Amino acid sequence: MADLTLGGEPPAVMTDGVWLACIECGETVAPYDDVVYRCPDCDGLLEVRYEEYPTFEAFEGTGVWRYADALPLAEGVSIKEGNTPLYTVPEIEADVGVADVRVKHEGMNPTGAFKDRGMTVGVKVADRLGVDRLACASTGNTSAALACYGARADTEVLVLLPAGKVAAGKVAQASLHGARILEVEGNFDACLDIVADLADRGEAYLLNSINPFRLEGQKTIGLEILEQSLAETGEWPDRIVLPVGNAGNTAALYKCFRELVEAGAMEEEEMPALTGVQAEGAAPMVEAVREGNDEVRRWEDVETIATAIRIGNPVNAPKALPGVKATGGTAVAVSDEEITDAQRALARDGVGVEPASAASVAGLRKLRAEGEIEADEQVVCLTTGHLLKDPDAAAAAGGDMTSVPADTEGVLDVL
Ligand SMILES: *Cc1c(COP(=O)(O)O)cnc(C)c1O
Ligand SMILES: [Zn+2]
Repeated sequence: MADLTLGGEPPAVMTDGVWLACIECGETVAPYDDVVYRCPDCDGLLEVRYEEYPTFEAFEGTGVWRYADALPLAEGVSIKEGNTPLYTVPEIEADVGVADVRVKHEGMNPTGAFKDRGMTVGVKVADRLGVDRLACASTGNTSAALACYGARADTEVLVLLPAGKVAAGKVAQASLHGARILEVEGNFDACLDIVADLADRGEAYLLNSINPFRLEGQKTIGLEILEQSLAETGEWPDRIVLPVGNAGNTAALYKCFRELVEAGAMEEEEMPALTGVQAEGAAPMVEAVREGNDEVRRWEDVETIATAIRIGNPVNAPKALPGVKATGGTAVAVSDEEITDAQRALARDGVGVEPASAASVAGLRKLRAEGEIEADEQVVCLTTGHLLKDPDAAAAAGGDMTSVPADTEGVLDVL
């Protein structure tokens, strides 16, 4: 299994207190000399490492860049991402029967999904590397965020989308922000294979979550959850339940906790239990966790209403699986019907999310019903994207309209 230990002597390749390390063989790479996504020696995943890890006292300001001391750069290409609300959800809390449930709504980011947190860092790194074209494969939200941040940085953006499988709101965003959109006759995993090839050939800078800098920005979800929970409940949560696609957030949250432990700001036992949720039709991570495997088996055919997590080959699994294990977490698969039910339940508590996001609440319900989550737990569910991302799914899950004539009597008749 991967070695995710922090600390040790900084290597000679360190630049501005930052370097890249291979999680498989330990090889270190200079962060800004060349474009690299994987270990040049063994092809393992790379992780950003720092000379120093900050404690909470170092943080000031608001949003992602409040946490600049935990990030590779002092500033990013920013449109004020982060600082998303942590909502109470009274009806869900009572219904599920746990002590405290909150929802961290990442749909409240500028482009309506958490991807902005990664892009504010990643697009700035791309700028420092001097690349002239940014690219990603996407189930939708990554392309929306990259198009937006690329526009802000005045850099060309290329996105590859699985034909017919991207929700309307997301395509509209990528399109309006000016990305070159290619529709691929294949699924997300095929899109990622192609765009990774293009990146290897030097055609574009890859900003999928295999890019280690993006995950640095996404760590700030964890820092915000810890700070907000402490301020609002007096405690850190016992558990964070989140949807899993490429497992980037799972990996980023675990890295957030490891760094706090390394800084002396958190005890290892205090790490919230990372609990991943996938759709039954796309659940390779759940399979690996449940079977106790160190590696994920790629699923070739995946299907779910939750298109944002319609992924069969989660690239960040080698970083995420150890996190689920080390934090005492677990993983669970939920049906599309359970996802839609959870989407409606969130809506009744006033929180509008897209289907993939509702998987977190569906997973909480299921694990509580199975007794895997205890009644006395304080739980945070991560909702990753906004309701308006997928208007078709929202309309289908919601109630029907009634036609009436254009007069008050006609309206009164149906009330
Ligand atoms: C990208 C995305 C996910 C998947 O996140 P990973 O970090 O790849 O596991 C889940 N939900 C939404 C709405 C997303 O956009
Ligand atoms: Zn290596």
